[in-house]
Amino acid sequence: MWWPPWLAAWLAWAAGAGAGRPAPLCGSGGLCRAPPGPNASHPAPSHCPRQRGAAELCAWPLSSESLLDTFPVDVTQENYVRNVRNCIFSIVYPTPFKSRVRLVAVSKEVLENILDLDISVKGTSDFLQFVSGGKVILGSVPLAHRYGGHQFGSWAGQLGDGRAHLIGVYTNRHGERWELQLKGSGKTPYSRNGDGRAVLRSSVREFLCSEAMHYLGIPTSRAASLVVSDDDVWRDQFYNGNIKKERGAVVLRLAKSWFRIGSLEILAYSGELDLQRRLLDFIIQEHFPSIAMNDSNRYLEFFSTVVSETANLIALWMSVGFAHGVCNTDNFSLLSLTIDYGPFGFMESYDPNFVPNTSDDERRYKIGNQANVGLFNLNKLLQALKPLLDPRQKQLASQILEGYGERYYIRFTELFKTKLGLPGENEDDNYLIAFLLKLMEDTKADFTMTFRQLSEITEDQLKELHIPEEFWALQDLGKHKLFSEWVTMYLLRLNRNKGDSDTKRRTRMTTVNPRYILRNWMAESAVQKANLNDFSEVQLLQQILQHPFQRQQAAEKAGYSLRPPAWAKDLKVSCSS
Ligand code: AMP
Ligand code: MG
Repeated sequence: MWWPPWLAAWLAWAAGAGAGRPAPLCGSGGLCRAPPGPNASHPAPSHCPRQRGAAELCAWPLSSESLLDTFPVDVTQENYVRNVRNCIFSIVYPTPFKSRVRLVAVSKEVLENILDLDISVKGTSDFLQFVSGGKVILGSVPLAHRYGGHQFGSWAGQLGDGRAHLIGVYTNRHGERWELQLKGSGKTPYSRNGDGRAVLRSSVREFLCSEAMHYLGIPTSRAASLVVSDDDVWRDQFYNGNIKKERGAVVLRLAKSWFRIGSLEILAYSGELDLQRRLLDFIIQEHFPSIAMNDSNRYLEFFSTVVSETANLIALWMSVGFAHGVCNTDNFSLLSLTIDYGPFGFMESYDPNFVPNTSDDERRYKIGNQANVGLFNLNKLLQALKPLLDPRQKQLASQILEGYGERYYIRFTELFKTKLGLPGENEDDNYLIAFLLKLMEDTKADFTMTFRQLSEITEDQLKELHIPEEFWALQDLGKHKLFSEWVTMYLLRLNRNKGDSDTKRRTRMTTVNPRYILRNWMAESAVQKANLNDFSEVQLLQQILQHPFQRQQAAEKAGYSLRPPAWAKDLKVSCSS
């Protein structure tokens, strides 16, 4: 009998499971299993105690079927680094840690509202095994995705999930389809020279920032959990020859889809056009419900949506001063989500040249260049789509791309007008925004707190140019000789809004201008404690950043709305993760 390759692999493994493989876990049903992994020598827990929540996790319907039914998988199923062709995924199991694993943090909201799990599950050993790659739920066949990408402007060829495993798809009670991925869970055919691992510091940063971005209202992948092991992982953090021992960590992260621009690029580059069509059709069917599958212009419509949503995403990043750090095409989601958090940073004092990643020597991904690299990446997407478009569609697609700049500009202006509490239209609004940004640039005023404090200060205080000490960012801004001129213009504009009041303005503005963002020093302080197995600050930050617009006592006590401490000035973040 012929079996599809993934099923054959699964059957082969399942048959072997009884002979020398880890025994079925989770009671007699054997619903969770330890993965065979590349080295079956990894010790697997021999029992699965029935704890509160454990049964729930074992019967949990996570499945890779929809992906495996749609796409061919890599014909080779051994786990070694190679060039892979004619497939979208390789079947590959996570490599369990050899040492003890500890839970650093979980997102209650993700567990309960996205994954339909009771929060009590986090206390079970099954959960710890599951989220660290020690066990795979029956029905899920772990996959590594084959993709390519343009890195720092040049085609880099095959990249792929070198340290991530897509462990299944979950459709929740709201009917939402979520793809679950472990990051840092071991080598795959795409690991190139890497060790397949992620260290604690970068995992804390990804866990905290992806959740924080969600609560800021920015499309992003989510994070369900973060675990740390005692397995040694060696990293040269600043690429200066100073190699240090760190610990391996795993984030369980979720997105509606993990496909990237690079997912299509690799297929176009290798001329696998049938497969590219199949991938595109799958993405459109699953994630672009407004596009009809029988529409001969569907790829064009898809492109148009990605152009528009990418412009939207980057404008949103700019509105909170977020610099992604590595805007390569392999890190740009086809669903226009923020994904693959690495050396990102929130800009502190306003500076369009802000580069969060110290490895980015050419400053390619400086914050002020993100809109341009968005265009570069969309152009690469267009190049990848061209073989599937007819001449007329190609021409239309180029025109769509030409509209990107305007779309970005419109969205940027909308967002900054909202940040300034300006309803309605006025031809001078762009000038008012640009004028303020220039004052901020000249005075190095804090980006986040300038907007937040403008949301908190009263019109009367502004009118009198009386800036209380607590508004430290505005005090910095106030040192500019043109500050009073800007204030006059701003107040005039505010007073045009009939029916508005100062209270209404401030309420409006405080719901869009965060008081708390994940500043580098906060993440660093949480990482330093986490390195000592004190996870309290990771958890505190996680809690606080769930309500970035609300003043919170614990956050104030921790100094999260104050001027960054002096020691934070020298903080650096590199690509090393
Ligand atoms: P990133 O910069 O994290 O987006 O990664 C770029 C590429 O390098 C992707 O293909 C990753 O899977 C791969 N990669 C990064 N770190 C590692 C690692 N430690 N081991 C294996 N592959 C890695
Ligand atoms: Mg990446």
